[in-house]
Amino acid sequence: MSDNIKISIDIPLDENGMIGRECLECEKYFKLKPGTGLPTSHCHCPYCEYEGEADTFWTPAQLEYAKSIALNEAFNQIIKPSFDKLNRSFKELERRTRNNSFFKITVKTSGQSFSIPIKYYSEEELETSLTCDNCGLEFSIFGVFAQCPDCNELNAFLIFEKSIDATNKQLDILTKPDMPKEIKENSLMFILSSCVSAFDGLGKELRKRKPDLYPDKPNNLFQNLYSLNLKLNNFIETKHPDFDFLIKLFQVRHLYEHNMGVIDDDFIKKLPIFSKDLGKKYILTEKEMEKFISSIRTLGEIMKDHFLTSEKK
Ligand SMILES: [Zn+2]
Ligand SMILES: [Zn+2]
Repeated sequence: MSDNIKISIDIPLDENGMIGRECLECEKYFKLKPGTGLPTSHCHCPYCEYEGEADTFWTPAQLEYAKSIALNEAFNQIIKPSFDKLNRSFKELERRTRNNSFFKITVKTSGQSFSIPIKYYSEEELETSLTCDNCGLEFSIFGVFAQCPDCNELNAFLIFEKSIDATNKQLDILTKPDMPKEIKENSLMFILSSCVSAFDGLGKELRKRKPDLYPDKPNNLFQNLYSLNLKLNNFIETKHPDFDFLIKLFQVRHLYEHNMGVIDDDFIKKLPIFSKDLGKKYILTEKEMEKFISSIRTLGEIMKDHFLTSEKK
Protein backbone atom coordinates (compact mmCIF):
# COMPACT_ATOMS: atom_id res chain seq x y z
CA MET A 1 0.00 0.00 0.00
CA SER A 2 1.33 3.45 -0.91
CA ASP A 3 1.72 5.99 1.86
CA ASN A 4 0.85 8.83 -0.50
CA ILE A 5 -2.61 10.26 -0.47
CA LYS A 6 -3.81 13.06 -2.70
CA ILE A 7 -5.89 15.81 -1.18
CA SER A 8 -7.06 18.78 -3.18
CA ILE A 9 -7.78 21.92 -1.25
CA ASP A 10 -9.70 24.99 -2.38
CA ILE A 11 -8.16 28.23 -1.22
CA PRO A 12 -11.09 30.57 -0.56
CA LEU A 13 -11.35 33.96 -2.31
CA ASP A 14 -12.18 37.15 -0.42
CA GLU A 15 -15.53 38.95 -0.66
CA ASN A 16 -14.44 40.62 -3.94
CA GLY A 17 -13.32 37.39 -5.55
CA MET A 18 -9.64 38.17 -4.97
CA ILE A 19 -6.93 35.79 -3.83
CA GLY A 20 -4.01 36.89 -1.64
CA ARG A 21 -0.46 36.34 -2.94
CA GLU A 22 2.96 36.72 -1.40
CA CYS A 23 6.29 37.01 -3.20
CA LEU A 24 8.97 34.46 -2.32
CA GLU A 25 11.67 37.03 -2.85
CA CYS A 26 10.54 40.33 -1.30
CA GLU A 27 7.78 38.74 0.85
CA LYS A 28 5.38 41.52 -0.04
CA TYR A 29 1.66 40.91 -0.26
CA PHE A 30 -0.77 41.63 -3.09
CA LYS A 31 -4.08 40.29 -4.41
CA LEU A 32 -5.43 39.39 -7.80
CA LYS A 33 -8.73 38.25 -9.25
CA PRO A 34 -8.59 34.78 -10.82
CA GLY A 35 -10.28 34.69 -14.19
CA THR A 36 -9.19 38.20 -15.21
CA GLY A 37 -6.00 38.96 -17.13
CA LEU A 38 -4.03 36.45 -19.16
CA PRO A 39 -4.74 32.68 -19.23
CA THR A 40 -1.43 31.89 -17.56
CA SER A 41 -0.19 30.21 -14.40
CA HIS A 42 2.98 32.28 -14.51
CA CYS A 43 3.05 35.21 -12.14
CA HIS A 44 5.26 38.28 -11.70
CA CYS A 45 5.74 39.96 -8.36
CA PRO A 46 4.27 43.47 -8.77
CA TYR A 47 6.98 44.95 -6.53
CA CYS A 48 10.26 43.20 -7.40
CA GLU A 49 11.86 41.19 -10.19
CA TYR A 50 10.74 37.76 -8.95
CA GLU A 51 8.58 35.67 -11.28
CA GLY A 52 7.49 32.05 -11.13
CA GLU A 53 4.59 29.61 -11.23
CA ALA A 54 1.43 30.79 -9.47
CA ASP A 55 1.82 28.12 -6.80
CA THR A 56 5.04 29.71 -5.58
CA PHE A 57 2.97 32.70 -4.43
CA TRP A 58 0.99 31.18 -1.54
CA THR A 59 0.81 33.31 1.58
CA PRO A 60 1.91 31.75 4.91
CA ALA A 61 -1.71 31.99 6.14
CA GLN A 62 -2.95 30.07 3.08
CA LEU A 63 -0.30 27.40 3.57
CA GLU A 64 -1.22 27.02 7.25
CA TYR A 65 -4.86 26.73 6.27
CA ALA A 66 -4.09 24.14 3.57
CA LYS A 67 -1.90 22.18 5.97
CA SER A 68 -4.63 22.06 8.60
CA ILE A 69 -7.19 20.87 6.03
CA ALA A 70 -4.73 18.26 4.70
CA LEU A 71 -3.93 17.02 8.21
CA ASN A 72 -7.62 16.62 8.94
CA GLU A 73 -8.15 14.71 5.71
CA ALA A 74 -5.09 12.55 6.33
CA PHE A 75 -6.31 11.88 9.84
CA ASN A 76 -9.72 10.83 8.56
CA GLN A 77 -8.31 8.72 5.71
CA ILE A 78 -5.34 7.04 7.39
CA ILE A 79 -5.05 7.44 11.12
CA LYS A 80 -8.72 7.22 12.08
CA PRO A 81 -9.32 3.89 10.27
CA SER A 82 -6.22 2.47 11.99
CA PHE A 83 -7.46 3.78 15.32
CA ASP A 84 -10.85 2.24 14.68
CA LYS A 85 -9.21 -1.02 13.71
CA LEU A 86 -7.00 -0.97 16.81
CA ASN A 87 -10.00 -0.10 18.90
CA ARG A 88 -11.89 -3.06 17.45
CA SER A 89 -8.94 -5.39 18.17
CA PHE A 90 -8.83 -4.23 21.77
CA LYS A 91 -12.58 -4.74 22.12
CA GLU A 92 -12.17 -8.23 20.72
CA LEU A 93 -9.35 -8.91 23.19
CA GLU A 94 -11.53 -7.56 25.96
CA ARG A 95 -14.36 -9.89 24.93
CA ARG A 96 -12.10 -12.92 24.77
CA THR A 97 -10.51 -12.23 28.16
CA ARG A 98 -13.82 -11.39 29.83
CA ASN A 99 -14.12 -14.68 31.66
CA ASN A 100 -10.48 -15.08 32.38
CA SER A 101 -9.88 -14.06 35.99
CA PHE A 102 -6.16 -14.45 35.61
CA PHE A 103 -5.73 -12.14 32.62
CA LYS A 104 -8.30 -9.47 31.89
CA ILE A 105 -8.26 -6.55 29.54
CA THR A 106 -10.67 -3.63 29.61
CA VAL A 107 -10.69 -1.00 26.90
CA LYS A 108 -11.96 2.52 27.48
CA THR A 109 -12.21 5.00 24.64
CA SER A 110 -12.58 8.66 25.43
CA GLY A 111 -14.94 9.77 22.66
CA GLN A 112 -14.35 9.78 18.93
CA SER A 113 -14.30 13.55 18.41
CA PHE A 114 -10.57 13.97 17.90
CA SER A 115 -9.83 16.55 15.20
CA ILE A 116 -7.16 19.00 14.12
CA PRO A 117 -8.26 22.64 14.21
CA ILE A 118 -8.64 24.33 10.83
CA LYS A 119 -6.56 27.48 10.64
CA TYR A 120 -8.90 30.01 9.08
CA TYR A 121 -7.61 33.38 7.92
CA SER A 122 -8.81 36.45 6.05
CA GLU A 123 -7.11 38.32 3.24
CA GLU A 124 -5.64 41.76 3.93
CA GLU A 125 -6.91 45.15 2.86
CA LEU A 126 -4.70 46.87 0.29
CA GLU A 127 -4.19 50.47 -0.74
CA THR A 128 -4.60 50.61 -4.51
CA SER A 129 -6.91 48.55 -6.73
CA LEU A 130 -6.14 48.48 -10.42
CA THR A 131 -7.23 46.95 -13.69
CA CYS A 132 -4.28 46.47 -16.01
CA ASP A 133 -4.90 48.45 -19.19
CA ASN A 134 -2.79 45.97 -21.13
CA CYS A 135 -4.23 42.55 -20.14
CA GLY A 136 -7.28 43.33 -18.00
CA LEU A 137 -6.04 41.69 -14.79
CA GLU A 138 -7.69 43.06 -11.67
CA PHE A 139 -5.22 43.32 -8.81
CA SER A 140 -4.51 45.31 -5.66
CA ILE A 141 -1.25 46.40 -4.12
CA PHE A 142 0.34 48.33 -1.28
CA GLY A 143 1.49 51.76 -2.44
CA VAL A 144 0.68 53.05 -5.89
CA PHE A 145 3.21 51.82 -8.43
CA ALA A 146 3.64 48.22 -9.51
CA GLN A 147 4.04 45.86 -12.44
CA CYS A 148 1.06 43.78 -13.57
CA PRO A 149 1.40 40.24 -12.12
CA ASP A 150 0.19 38.75 -15.42
CA CYS A 151 1.71 40.77 -18.28
CA ASN A 152 4.40 42.58 -16.25
CA GLU A 153 3.49 45.99 -17.64
CA LEU A 154 4.45 48.88 -15.39
CA ASN A 155 1.32 50.65 -14.15
CA ALA A 156 3.04 54.02 -13.66
CA PHE A 157 1.47 55.32 -16.88
CA LEU A 158 -1.96 54.04 -15.88
CA ILE A 159 -1.66 55.75 -12.50
CA PHE A 160 -0.56 58.93 -14.24
CA GLU A 161 -3.58 58.84 -16.55
CA LYS A 162 -5.90 58.20 -13.60
CA SER A 163 -4.47 61.25 -11.83
CA ILE A 164 -4.94 63.39 -14.91
CA ASP A 165 -8.53 62.10 -15.28
CA ALA A 166 -9.14 63.23 -11.70
CA THR A 167 -7.86 66.76 -12.40
CA ASN A 168 -10.05 66.87 -15.47
CA LYS A 169 -13.09 66.13 -13.29
CA GLN A 170 -12.03 68.86 -10.88
CA LEU A 171 -11.87 71.29 -13.77
CA ASP A 172 -15.37 70.25 -14.86
CA ILE A 173 -16.70 71.15 -11.43
CA LEU A 174 -14.92 74.51 -11.58
CA THR A 175 -16.38 75.57 -14.87
CA LYS A 176 -19.80 75.80 -13.22
CA PRO A 177 -20.83 79.46 -13.52
CA ASP A 178 -21.80 79.93 -9.86
CA MET A 179 -18.28 79.22 -8.59
CA PRO A 180 -16.84 82.27 -6.71
CA LYS A 181 -13.87 83.89 -8.48
CA GLU A 182 -11.25 83.41 -5.74
CA ILE A 183 -12.12 79.73 -5.32
CA LYS A 184 -11.80 79.32 -9.06
CA GLU A 185 -8.38 80.97 -9.08
CA ASN A 186 -7.04 78.86 -6.22
CA SER A 187 -8.43 75.71 -7.70
CA LEU A 188 -6.85 76.30 -11.11
CA MET A 189 -3.53 76.69 -9.33
CA PHE A 190 -4.21 73.52 -7.39
CA ILE A 191 -5.06 71.61 -10.58
CA LEU A 192 -1.91 72.84 -12.27
CA SER A 193 0.12 71.75 -9.28
CA SER A 194 -1.61 68.33 -9.14
CA CYS A 195 -0.85 67.68 -12.81
CA VAL A 196 2.83 68.52 -12.36
CA SER A 197 3.00 66.38 -9.19
CA ALA A 198 1.46 63.47 -11.07
CA PHE A 199 4.07 63.86 -13.79
CA ASP A 200 6.79 64.10 -11.15
CA GLY A 201 5.50 60.90 -9.53
CA LEU A 202 5.60 59.17 -12.90
CA GLY A 203 9.13 60.41 -13.43
CA LYS A 204 10.37 59.16 -10.07
CA GLU A 205 8.97 55.73 -10.84
CA LEU A 206 10.51 55.64 -14.33
CA ARG A 207 13.86 56.66 -12.90
CA LYS A 208 13.63 53.92 -10.30
CA ARG A 209 13.11 51.36 -13.09
CA LYS A 210 15.72 52.75 -15.46
CA PRO A 211 18.25 54.88 -13.61
CA ASP A 212 20.53 54.98 -16.65
CA LEU A 213 17.84 56.53 -18.78
CA TYR A 214 16.72 59.27 -16.38
CA PRO A 215 19.50 60.93 -14.35
CA ASP A 216 18.85 61.98 -10.75
CA LYS A 217 20.50 65.36 -11.34
CA PRO A 218 19.32 68.06 -11.50
CA ASN A 219 16.96 67.53 -8.57
CA ASN A 220 13.28 67.15 -9.39
CA LEU A 221 14.07 66.69 -13.05
CA PHE A 222 10.46 65.86 -13.92
CA GLN A 223 9.22 69.14 -12.43
CA ASN A 224 11.58 70.95 -14.73
CA LEU A 225 10.44 70.17 -18.24
CA TYR A 226 13.08 72.39 -19.80
CA SER A 227 15.96 70.38 -18.28
CA LEU A 228 14.21 67.08 -18.79
CA ASN A 229 13.90 67.76 -22.50
CA LEU A 230 17.61 68.60 -22.70
CA LYS A 231 18.56 65.43 -20.82
CA LEU A 232 16.49 63.42 -23.28
CA ASN A 233 18.17 65.06 -26.28
CA ASN A 234 15.10 67.11 -27.19
CA PHE A 235 12.96 64.00 -27.42
CA ILE A 236 9.93 65.80 -25.96
CA GLU A 237 10.33 68.97 -28.00
CA THR A 238 10.43 67.05 -31.26
CA LYS A 239 7.37 64.96 -30.37
CA HIS A 240 5.07 67.34 -28.53
CA PRO A 241 3.04 69.79 -30.66
CA ASP A 242 2.56 72.17 -27.70
CA PHE A 243 5.98 71.97 -26.14
CA ASP A 244 6.33 75.75 -25.62
CA PHE A 245 2.96 75.95 -23.95
CA LEU A 246 3.93 73.13 -21.59
CA ILE A 247 7.20 74.86 -20.76
CA LYS A 248 5.27 78.03 -19.96
CA LEU A 249 2.81 76.33 -17.60
CA PHE A 250 5.53 74.32 -15.86
CA GLN A 251 7.19 77.69 -15.19
CA VAL A 252 3.89 79.18 -14.00
CA ARG A 253 3.55 76.33 -11.57
CA HIS A 254 7.04 77.09 -10.34
CA LEU A 255 6.00 80.73 -9.85
CA TYR A 256 2.96 79.74 -7.83
CA GLU A 257 4.94 77.34 -5.75
CA HIS A 258 7.81 79.69 -4.94
CA ASN A 259 6.72 83.27 -5.62
CA MET A 260 2.95 83.48 -4.97
CA GLY A 261 2.37 83.56 -8.72
CA VAL A 262 4.20 86.86 -9.18
CA ILE A 263 6.31 87.06 -12.33
CA ASP A 264 10.01 87.35 -11.47
CA ASP A 265 13.35 87.66 -13.28
CA ASP A 266 13.84 83.94 -13.45
CA PHE A 267 10.48 83.53 -15.19
CA ILE A 268 11.31 86.26 -17.69
CA LYS A 269 14.71 84.75 -18.36
CA LYS A 270 12.99 81.60 -19.57
CA LEU A 271 10.02 83.36 -21.17
CA PRO A 272 11.26 86.80 -22.35
CA ILE A 273 7.88 87.59 -23.87
CA PHE A 274 6.64 88.35 -20.32
CA SER A 275 9.28 91.02 -19.58
CA LYS A 276 6.62 93.76 -19.57
CA ASP A 277 4.74 91.86 -16.83
CA LEU A 278 7.53 91.78 -14.24
CA GLY A 279 6.04 92.08 -10.74
CA LYS A 280 2.52 91.22 -11.89
CA LYS A 281 0.64 88.13 -10.88
CA TYR A 282 0.17 85.47 -13.52
CA ILE A 283 -3.55 84.70 -13.71
CA LEU A 284 -4.41 81.23 -14.93
CA THR A 285 -7.53 80.73 -17.03
CA GLU A 286 -9.84 77.76 -17.43
CA LYS A 287 -9.04 77.59 -21.12
CA GLU A 288 -5.34 77.31 -20.34
CA MET A 289 -5.94 74.58 -17.81
CA GLU A 290 -8.09 72.66 -20.24
CA LYS A 291 -5.32 72.81 -22.80
CA PHE A 292 -2.71 71.98 -20.18
CA ILE A 293 -4.54 68.86 -19.03
CA SER A 294 -4.71 67.52 -22.55
CA SER A 295 -1.09 68.55 -23.24
CA ILE A 296 0.28 66.85 -20.16
CA ARG A 297 -1.68 63.74 -21.09
CA THR A 298 0.14 63.74 -24.42
CA LEU A 299 3.38 64.33 -22.54
CA GLY A 300 2.67 61.13 -20.58
CA GLU A 301 2.22 59.22 -23.84
CA ILE A 302 5.50 60.60 -25.17
CA MET A 303 7.26 59.51 -21.99
CA LYS A 304 5.75 56.05 -22.34
CA ASP A 305 7.06 55.88 -25.87
CA HIS A 306 10.48 56.96 -24.68
CA PHE A 307 10.50 54.51 -21.77
CA LEU A 308 9.44 51.54 -23.90
CA THR A 309 11.49 52.20 -27.02
CA SER A 310 14.62 52.87 -25.01
CA GLU A 311 14.07 49.51 -23.34
CA LYS A 312 14.64 47.75 -26.64
CA LYS A 313 18.17 49.11 -27.02
ZN1 LIG B 1 8.66 40.48 -4.86
ZN1 LIG C 1 -1.43 43.14 -17.35
